[in-house]
This record gives sequence, C-alpha cells and structure tokens, in this order.
Amino acid sequence: MKFTYLGTSSVEGFPAVFCNCKNCAAARRLGGVNIRTRTQALVNEDLLIDLPADTLHHFLQCGIEGHKIKYLFVTHSHKDHCYPQELGCHRHPCAKEMEQPVLRVFGSHGAAELMAPFATETVEVTELKPFDVVDLEEYRVTALPARHMGENEGALMYLIDDGEKKVLYAHDTGYFLDEVFDYLKGNGIVLDMVSYDCAYGDKFVADTGGHMGIENITRVRARLLEIGAVNEKTIHVLNHFSHGINPLQSRLEKLVRGQGFCVAHDGRVIEL
Ligand SMILES: [Zn+2]
Ligand SMILES: [Zn+2]
Ligand SMILES: [Zn+2]
Repeated sequence: MKFTYLGTSSVEGFPAVFCNCKNCAAARRLGGVNIRTRTQALVNEDLLIDLPADTLHHFLQCGIEGHKIKYLFVTHSHKDHCYPQELGCHRHPCAKEMEQPVLRVFGSHGAAELMAPFATETVEVTELKPFDVVDLEEYRVTALPARHMGENEGALMYLIDDGEKKVLYAHDTGYFLDEVFDYLKGNGIVLDMVSYDCAYGDKFVADTGGHMGIENITRVRARLLEIGAVNEKTIHVLNHFSHGINPLQSRLEKLVRGQGFCVAHDGRVIEL
C-alpha cells in the first residue's frame, strides 16, 4: 500500500491564512516541509481521504490525477476536511474523459449532509455510521467513531484494509473511545500504520477533548500495544498540526526523537 500525506495542517493552515506569528513567519521564510495545507491523504492512486479546499493544490503539488480516484472517504464536516462544493467539478463540462467516471463518496452524518446536494449520476454519496463496513473491489473500509464534534456529527476514523495492509486514519479525534479499542481487540485487528491527530503537539490536553497531543497519543499507542492491535513493526505517524502550538517540522522531529513516531509533512509518502 502506498499512503501519501497531501495536507497535514489543521483548519487554518501552517502558515495560517491571515497570521503573522513567529511560527507562520518562519514557515513562510523556510518553505519546503514547513508549509502545511489542510488535511487530506491518498491511498494508492484511487482512494482519497477528505476533501478540503486545498485539494487542487495537493493534486498539482503531488502529481495526482484526480480522474483516477474511485473512492472518497470524508471523516467529518469541518472545513479543513470537507469542502463539498469541489464535488460540483466532478461532472461535464468541468470533468471529461475520466478514467473513473463515477466517484463513490462516503462520509460521517454531518459530512454526508453537506455533500448530498452535490450528488449526481457520477457522484454517489453514502452516509456511514460508526462500525459500518464498506466492501469495495480493492479495499475493506471500516468506519470507527471519533471523539470529535459531538454525537450529531457522527465523526469517523477509518480503518482501511487492502487485503495485505491495514491502516487506521484517526483524524480528527481526542483520546480514542473505548468502543474503538474493543472493536480492534474483538476483531483481532493488527495495524500496519496508525495516523494520529496531533493538533496539540506537546501541550497538555484532556482526554475528553476533540484533538490529541503527544502525551495522549503515547497512551493510545500503549493501549493499542496492550490489546495487540499494534506491534513492533507498526508505523506510528503524527499528523494534523495546529500552527499555534506545534513548532516547525525539524523542531517537531527533534521533540519526538527516540519515541518511535514519524512526523507527517505535506507530500510525505509511506510505503507499507
Ligand atoms: Zn481538522
Ligand atoms: Zn501563525
Ligand atoms: Zn475537525
């Protein structure tokens, strides 16, 4: 499985759209991996996770051909993950001669509600509830409940299985809900990679919050290890960084050195 991080910031971007703080000014000056755009990832060439307004920028930066994408899974309706208007470009005359003429879109209750008005004969929108399993030709995707935005949203993390590798994409969420640990344990799932919400970096945040920092993540990882859902081969990736709390990429890497975490950046590819 090829897993590509397309965007790795939280809602405001890093540097943030209208900000001139120290972190943003430094990111603008240094460029490269210090520039983060809104959250999105791609599995192989055909399964996209989330649809922020930065999607076109991501495709151009990473050489992605959007017409090859067959599936889109949206975690929740926050605008760094769900800019539904973009779906309006998936039809004639905005899109022609596509390799994959139909896009199958799945999302949380809140995201599906936002995207439903953009459904057409080439864009199928399906709402997912926690623990729904979607069996596709190449993948089995399981929706798991995230601790984010309250119950009305039904925010989801996704467990993506391509038959060989299993990835848990956990954005956005606070400390994992007990039901998630129970599901993974009960189904004997062993993950090859986990992508953790790290909006809070090294700042303390309560487990009941809607995002995590390194301290919460370390405890989630320990519990996953305890239940056998990860092992010494599992890759643990920190992602979804808020510019007000997290330092630049090199400082972040230094901060977690020796702790067994990878730090995502826009364009980072992980081959599993
Ligand atoms: Zn977010
Ligand atoms: Zn700033
Ligand atoms: Zn969010």
